[in-house]
Amino acid sequence: MFSRTEMLDLVVINGQARGIVVRNLVTGAIESHAADAVVLGTGGYSNVFFLSTNAKNCNTTAIWRAHKKGAYLANPCYTQIHPTCIPQSGDHQSKLTLMSESLRNDGRVWVPKAADDKRAPGDIPESERDYYLERLYPTYGNLAPRDISSRAAKRVCDEGRGVGPGGRGVYLDFADSLKRLGEGVVRERYGNLFDMYERITGENPYQAPMRIYPAVHYTMGGLWVDYNLMSNLPGLHVIGEANFSDHGANRLGASALMQGLADGYFVLPYTIGHYFASVKRDPVTTDHPEFKKAEESIRTQTNRLLAVQGKRTVLSFHRELGKIMWDECGMARTEASLKNALQRIPALREEFWKNVRVTGQSEDFNQALEQAGRVADYLEFSELLCADALHRKESCGGHFREEYQTEEGEAQRDDANFAYVAAWEHKGVGRPAELHKEPLVFENVHLQQRSYK
Ligand SMILES: Cc1cc2nc3c(=O)[nH]c(=O)nc-3n(C[C@H](O)[C@H](O)[C@H](O)COP(=O)(O)OP(=O)(O)OC[C@H]3O[C@@H](n4cnc5c(N)ncnc54)[C@H](O)[C@@H]3O)c2cc1C
Repeated sequence: MFSRTEMLDLVVINGQARGIVVRNLVTGAIESHAADAVVLGTGGYSNVFFLSTNAKNCNTTAIWRAHKKGAYLANPCYTQIHPTCIPQSGDHQSKLTLMSESLRNDGRVWVPKAADDKRAPGDIPESERDYYLERLYPTYGNLAPRDISSRAAKRVCDEGRGVGPGGRGVYLDFADSLKRLGEGVVRERYGNLFDMYERITGENPYQAPMRIYPAVHYTMGGLWVDYNLMSNLPGLHVIGEANFSDHGANRLGASALMQGLADGYFVLPYTIGHYFASVKRDPVTTDHPEFKKAEESIRTQTNRLLAVQGKRTVLSFHRELGKIMWDECGMARTEASLKNALQRIPALREEFWKNVRVTGQSEDFNQALEQAGRVADYLEFSELLCADALHRKESCGGHFREEYQTEEGEAQRDDANFAYVAAWEHKGVGRPAELHKEPLVFENVHLQQRSYK
């Protein structure tokens, strides 16, 4: 076990994944590990949006660097936006807080019927409230799936009916449940969440409705893998949120944790044995020139980052990138917004390499340097995410293109042209990636429009 260690490169020898190069986060030492196979379980890339519900240190470095070594990255544009998060409170926030999905079992979602209604929620009579999920989706009501509920919240806020500072919020109201079940039952079910909400917002949800707004939560794209959880690079296996597999179900609220557990407990222990038994590998040590090359390229990148000595912090670049991503490639995307993002990201990347200021040294505990490497990767990866979103001229699940919606504002798929996994091959930074299509073939069920009416 090597804790406080960050993988910074994948080593590929004779077309097989044969090890990794890491940085010791305490001493800064660059170290290599040779192996018969590599398994990445390094999580998702929500933090490319800067603000998300993920922990601050979740990042894309492991999968992005493996991608640059030849592993295909599939469906990066599919992003799950979770409807029940505490709204952003200001520009200086570093992450967002998820309020559990379970709250929608007993909470009712509403906004005022009229735009710019600044009254306190208790002063707005029932007849002037719009319980829009119950109105639009009578069968599922407040339990409509995440993508549908998130977009509905965005729509009412775009109409000027959002609540709270900045108007980017909707109410999640427990008044009816408190009356029906009593405070004791509600406290038993959700007490910890109510306490957490009060500690963060200073508002007591037993007395006034919570305010919630959608936030980036989970990423369905990731490194492409086959049924054995192996990428297109022999020996490189990818599990959990880091791969793209099975994530179609997740976008509707199915269990991401279960997929991680299934990959790690039930699939990989069996499939990796098959790889070992069936593929011949030559003995390899960390003295191999490919390890030395990878170590050298990490040292070169580190020195380059430290040498810029510009005027802007790493955080300011990350925040600006996140704003581009959220505004232009967030809950709703258009051809124009994506083209705009694809212009601005390379420009920001160029500025990063001329004007970033990374303090401290390489052979030391240096979080500014760690962050700089990750943000450098986001500045490359985000371009692929937007290119994928631009090429997919349809809406589906975690990808909503405003041009492709039904008359009722629901996602309009184009199964004739887009029923495939988009697996991208890296062709160099700033150069278009090559698209490989893996057709999705349905034999026993037929694709059809989702309906939650
Ligand atoms: C707030 C929140 C609530 C959630 N609630 C639910 C829920 O109720 N149900 C559900 O099913 N799912 C839920 N999810 C989603 C679920 O938790 C994740 O999808 C799941 O944890 C992913 O597991 P993983 O092991 O693939 O990745 P992670 O749990 O993200 O683990 C990845 C690990 O790899 C490490 N790592 C990353 N890069 C490197 C690197 N370069 N070098 C070394 N180490 C690296 C990370 O530090 C981390 O320890 C929630 C997610 C969040 C953020």
